[in-house]
Amino acid sequence: MRKTLYLWKLDILEFKEMSDEWLDFIVTCRSGQPHNHDIVIGAMENDQIYNYVADYIDGIITREQFWMLAWFKNPIMQALSAENPEHDGKQTPMKGHPVFLAQHATACCCRSCLEKWRHIPAGKILTESEQSYIVDVLMQWIEAEMNR
Ligand SMILES: [Zn+2]
Repeated sequence: MRKTLYLWKLDILEFKEMSDEWLDFIVTCRSGQPHNHDIVIGAMENDQIYNYVADYIDGIITREQFWMLAWFKNPIMQALSAENPEHDGKQTPMKGHPVFLAQHATACCCRSCLEKWRHIPAGKILTESEQSYIVDVLMQWIEAEMNR
């Protein structure tokens, strides 16, 4: 029997990506409220994301900050965080996500810029605190842009 036939009666809730809906669902689950789905297929939720969710629930970070921190888990930002990113200087697109613009505007686009303008040494993996520093810089820039 094919697996799909076997599962056809189950109520499956699937999150293809980390969305606001996904975050709300996680928050609800963490607060101990039961849900009615048989299976929940989640977007990636690693330990670090879990900590961010916990911080968000505790009110330590805002929803916007949560998304910025979670943003670091996407492939482009992972590449930026690597020890020796391939094609450094070209890894951050000029358009697409608004954060790319912020990265170029704040010299957080590549490791050479980060080293030159932000004094974060290249050639090593970005630490958690360096990542959250970059998130703060990007948040400030985005907030200033929104208030213009
Ligand atoms: Zn750069």
